[in-house]
Amino acid sequence: MSKRIVILGAGESGVGSAILAQKNGADVFVSDFGKIKEKYKRELNKHKIIWEEGKHSQQLILNANEIIKSPGIPEKVKIVRSAMELGIPVISEIEYAGRYTDAFKICITGSNGKTTTTMLTYHILKNAGLNVGLAGNVGKSFAQQVAEKNYDYYVIEISSFQLDGMYDFKADVAVLMNITPDHLDRYDGMKGYTNSKFRIIQNQTKNDYFIYCSDDEVTMSEVPKREIKAKKLPFSLNQETENGAYRKERTLIIKYKSNELTMSIHDLALKGQHNMYNSMAAGIASQVVKIRKEEIRESLSNFHGVEHRLEPVLKVHGIEFINDSKATNVNSTWYALESISNNLIWIAGGIDKGNDYSIIDDLVRKKVKAIICLGKDNSKIHKAFSNVVETIIDVESASEAVKAAYYLARKGDSVLLSPACASFDLFDNYEDRGNQFKQAVRDL
Ligand code: ADP
Repeated sequence: MSKRIVILGAGESGVGSAILAQKNGADVFVSDFGKIKEKYKRELNKHKIIWEEGKHSQQLILNANEIIKSPGIPEKVKIVRSAMELGIPVISEIEYAGRYTDAFKICITGSNGKTTTTMLTYHILKNAGLNVGLAGNVGKSFAQQVAEKNYDYYVIEISSFQLDGMYDFKADVAVLMNITPDHLDRYDGMKGYTNSKFRIIQNQTKNDYFIYCSDDEVTMSEVPKREIKAKKLPFSLNQETENGAYRKERTLIIKYKSNELTMSIHDLALKGQHNMYNSMAAGIASQVVKIRKEEIRESLSNFHGVEHRLEPVLKVHGIEFINDSKATNVNSTWYALESISNNLIWIAGGIDKGNDYSIIDDLVRKKVKAIICLGKDNSKIHKAFSNVVETIIDVESASEAVKAAYYLARKGDSVLLSPACASFDLFDNYEDRGNQFKQAVRDL
């Protein structure tokens, strides 16, 4: 009898898993408690995969041999708990798909910088002519690509929710960008979140690689405590390292064995301190897969950036508008505030995932002229900054926010949307928030 695989959640990763499971000859069923998007229904129907929406039918789910859970569904929901109580393995899409490919996998996680570093690494590998797929939170799911393509390499962005369902999967190159408070609402605190991030190195052997930021406090408090078998390749802006990457004055040095690449910071396509980290991490991963220095240098200098991450939108009457809608926690907003030198009108707010605003207090004091709160409940922002910034106003739409910012700004100022919060109170997602912001700027 064929194995029964049930997939919970019919988004990108769920539908990709269903297609792969179907291809593997499993008896596949997809269940989504919400409404499934039309494009995914079409995809499921095309592959003759049975699905349901608006409910989780226990009798069709709890008879599974294995359940693949979408990362968006918390472990504490009833159907997942019931499955676990029955001893049904609940895994993630990456775990499942990892079984069916022997491609070389570069896996990137961290609280911030995942997408940028993933795209940048992919850009370098692709430009160098490797047969490489881009997967994870960006583009097509890993599972669907494993089902339909035949890549030799994958660059995969992996969130902590994906990591939670990973057991036997092994990254050939594991990249951990940083660990700062995020999603604490789902992890009951930092310990659980940190453990989740460190799953990126589980199952690694001495033939594998672990790339991490040695300036990151939480990472560095864990590294000595854990048994790390992989070759360690740290990156840092402050200290030299034998293998890995570091900054020396205005130059980045990226080194692996006898291969040493130097590059002026001035030539990096992505600006700002956080992007030096991202460039170093992508650079080391590329050295590991033996891409030529000239090619790495060239790709690091001609990369176009990623939408909604410190994305310059327009200059209107000398006022620069910047879209950093993807900044959904305080740490990423710290880097945004740090990287902009002008006077700022800062648009912030949304759903707070346990923010501690004190870490940006100094930067806000130094740079921010006014705060525009774009959220339903802005009380925490008011509380944190009412003694720091004179003008704090509340709005409930991107267009109101942009108009208010334009009114408050003077020539030479910047208007920064970097919310430090999730977007779901007023928008579909961060892309929607960023797109509405950009449209409102264009409409000025
Ligand atoms: P992720 O995929 O981990 O959410 P992104 O690359 O999408 O990361 O960037 C998310 C936000 O964090 C953006 O606002 C970006 O400007 C900021 N950011 C990018 N790289 C880093 C980094 N290395 N450290 C801190 N913040 C970063």
